[in-house]
Amino acid sequence: MNHHDPAISDRVPALISFFDTNFVCRYANGFHRAWYGREPASQIGRSVEELFGPDVAAKRMEHWSRLAAGEQVTFLADIRHSDGTLHSASVRYVPHLQGGKMKGFYAFVFDMDDQQYMFESMFGASAVGYWELDFRGVKKALEAIAASGWHDPIQHLYDNPRFMRQVVDNIPVLNMNKKARQLFGVAEEDMPGLSLGRFVPPGTEKVVAANIVAYLKGESNFENETVLCTLDGDPVEVLISASFPRKDGFCNTLTLGTVDISYRNAQDRRLSQLEAELAHSSRVSTLGQLTASIAHEVNQPLGAVMTNGNAALRWLNRDVPDLEEAQAALRRLISEAERAAEIIQRTRSLAKKGEPNRIECCLGQLLADVEKLVHRETTSMGCELRVEELPCEVRLTADPIQIQQVLINLIVNAAQAMREQPGRRLIRLSASTHGEIVKLQVRDNGPGFGPSSSDFLFDPFYTTKGDGMGIGLSVARTIVEAHGGSISASLGGTRGSVFEFTLPCMIVI
Ligand code: ADP
Repeated sequence: MNHHDPAISDRVPALISFFDTNFVCRYANGFHRAWYGREPASQIGRSVEELFGPDVAAKRMEHWSRLAAGEQVTFLADIRHSDGTLHSASVRYVPHLQGGKMKGFYAFVFDMDDQQYMFESMFGASAVGYWELDFRGVKKALEAIAASGWHDPIQHLYDNPRFMRQVVDNIPVLNMNKKARQLFGVAEEDMPGLSLGRFVPPGTEKVVAANIVAYLKGESNFENETVLCTLDGDPVEVLISASFPRKDGFCNTLTLGTVDISYRNAQDRRLSQLEAELAHSSRVSTLGQLTASIAHEVNQPLGAVMTNGNAALRWLNRDVPDLEEAQAALRRLISEAERAAEIIQRTRSLAKKGEPNRIECCLGQLLADVEKLVHRETTSMGCELRVEELPCEVRLTADPIQIQQVLINLIVNAAQAMREQPGRRLIRLSASTHGEIVKLQVRDNGPGFGPSSSDFLFDPFYTTKGDGMGIGLSVARTIVEAHGGSISASLGGTRGSVFEFTLPCMIVI
């Protein structure tokens, strides 16, 4: 450092000075003004003894031989401030050699109280709840385990819940900042004698153990979400994090950060609940559009039930009842009734409000069901729906009702887009596999959408229809993404729109 460049050294919040070999000050930076309340220039030409008195001078002289040998010297000292207080400071002397000859030394003095104050104000006022934990008990427990012949104390910790509990109960809490005390309902007078175990509900020890293990394995930090409890036993959802200073051997204390995530988790839960409700209302609106189709589908087997029932009666009412014919009519009646029940079941599952239910299902079957459900609706709008066959059997782990909902939305949208148009109205539903991904495509030959709307199509409540709700595509996207896929829209080659989405799948040739 060039001590003739005050622009730099004056700005350093530490005392920097230079003494010659006679311990006479030759330079003092601007911080001396703030510290000693005297002009730095007034120090120049005065010896350590003159400046700080004979006792201090005698102590400082002790370092002379090491300095003369070209060594740096660092020590702690109490330094008096001009306000009369004594501050503990870290002092470093750095010798200045020129052509191998000692010309003097720089003195750097850093106020440790200041550092301590900064640390304490950060620790005290932080939005993170900090804990200082005494880890010596953990060390002893693990040593005892190792001494009793267990070659793997970590495994023992995991395999032995009672031991884990003991370890957690024996971690004394040395300090908690204000935020941690607030979060865990601890008054300052509750602090003495508290152990971490008071805040770790049964069953959660594993997280603390994982933290210890991360430390033992030499990892630099640890983070996990868990549920701890207040002093009164109320649950608190927290993110815990610890960073492990890399010193040789075991650290006696560990600082643990805790952040309250109950609010965030509650928001997440509320959001998924809202999503589920939106998905449900979208399904109900889809069902509304399909009512005619469903009514027609159920009417057919019901008509057949009547016809076969009457026929059975006629065969039985004959002078000589024809039991064989009556039985055949009743068998047809039963199978038609079963068909009706199946349709009602399919409709009911679509209307059902429930948790997503992922199961392994067959894509071919799923597409066939969709075709049946929308057939009447598309036909009534003068559209032809063409389902292109899959080249192989594709199985999905998915909620089939939700995937049907996505497809029905896309097909009904396509039919509605072509509602007004003269000429052929064709909707093509196809599926193709790409590795372990299946791509499902709904293509129409309608008017397509304008370039300006392509950015908003999947936004909630975006609609260009007078009677539209604008949630179909947004719900479709939520469902597809929750299944690990993605959905997009583009314009067809010459006309029309193409909506396609991907899903992870298994392929059976
Ligand atoms: P809604 O059908 O209630 O309007 P959606 O979220 O299902 O809600 O669709 C949003 C908008 O996307 C529609 O209003 C329409 O403008 C556009 N859109 C969807 N599908 C098509 C399509 N096949 N062709 C042209 N525009 C479409």
